Amino acid sequence: MWRLEAMAKENRSPKDGLPGRSTSPHPATIQPKERPRQAAPTRTPHPATVLQRQNPPSLAAKMPHAATVAQPKARHAARGIPPEALVALRKACGVIQAASNGPFDPYRPMSFFRDETTSNIRGRNDSGVVFGGTVQRPARSFAGEEAAQFLRHLSTYFFYYANHFLAKGDAEVEAMYTNDRILISANNPKTMEQLYQQLVKEPTLLDAIRTIPSTSSDRRGARVVDRFQDEMMSPDLTEDVQFLAQSLAMVPVRESVEQITIRNAVPKTDVLVEPHYREKLILVSGLGVHAEQKLLLVLTKSRLPKTTPVLIRGKKRPCFGCWLCLYFVADVMGYNLNYNTRPGKSWTNSIDGLKAIIDRALDIDVPKQLMRAWGDKVIRQYEANKIRSHVSTVYGTGAEDPGFDSESDDDLDSYS
Ligand SMILES: [Zn+2]
Repeated sequence: MWRLEAMAKENRSPKDGLPGRSTSPHPATIQPKERPRQAAPTRTPHPATVLQRQNPPSLAAKMPHAATVAQPKARHAARGIPPEALVALRKACGVIQAASNGPFDPYRPMSFFRDETTSNIRGRNDSGVVFGGTVQRPARSFAGEEAAQFLRHLSTYFFYYANHFLAKGDAEVEAMYTNDRILISANNPKTMEQLYQQLVKEPTLLDAIRTIPSTSSDRRGARVVDRFQDEMMSPDLTEDVQFLAQSLAMVPVRESVEQITIRNAVPKTDVLVEPHYREKLILVSGLGVHAEQKLLLVLTKSRLPKTTPVLIRGKKRPCFGCWLCLYFVADVMGYNLNYNTRPGKSWTNSIDGLKAIIDRALDIDVPKQLMRAWGDKVIRQYEANKIRSHVSTVYGTGAEDPGFDSESDDDLDSYS
């Protein structure tokens, strides 16, 4: 009963005409609440407020620098070394190289960590493996990272929306913002198709976003849902991605939302480049891999220039396997990718998902020496205990989903 009472206590009073969060004692009985559209005009930004923005700041200027293109180390000139010494040196280097690396194996980091993960029985629990010890992450400031924080709010909102209104048991929703478009994906291959079918029942995305999905007993989830709704109706935003989300939310859903399904081949339609998909919300379905990895496949199979800033954030921090994929795409493939560099827990199958990304890198002739050097580097980082699982400080208290990204301190409205 204590939990039901806690749920009742945390319900905040209705504000500005939005219905208050349900006080039904059991989450299963919570009904979707839709506000009558004419009831709360103050929550809807006037179109002029949103659309007539002057001099939009450039995304490139706002986004923090992401990984730069990894370059092979410059070869040392052998000037000044006697020829016979050079021969001996080359032989010695060849022996060392053969002993330490062996034949080129692009999947080495994947197989190394897969073995480590399956052998790490002590850290195993119902929801992944704690990898290399845990690091507790307290609430922190997201100053300067408002765009990333907004994508996290957006992902969290659609996570609860899908799980409530579509009765999906999905584990994650992730969002990607690049080249004037927003993409979202889920772990389940069908979730986004069903989300589209649900959204087209509404005139606009803004009508859909007024609904309050159940966040069950997850107090932090309820706060983030509330924050996202506020942001979507706020006249005081600063980030390009926020303006884009607001603008497209006021256009009929059939004009503002698109869906694609990823198959193994290169997509016929390059949604990151084609003008038709500009300023759209693109729902990505297909493939039984984690949500981040679907977005990375869309990215790496696109003709989008690698210098284009790409921002990826989800409700949760990336699991270890997805973090490996993000790291690889930024560090080896050279994309200008801004992602959460602190991995959460580990699932063996998500590590295996790196294979599809590596295959893509081989297809486009990413130098093998870069892949080899990266694999060695990541394994060394692990062996030096520099790769660990990050969890929130309230982890294990039951107050939130344990996989949340670090909480923002300005989300802390009623939390201690
Ligand atoms: Zn993952």
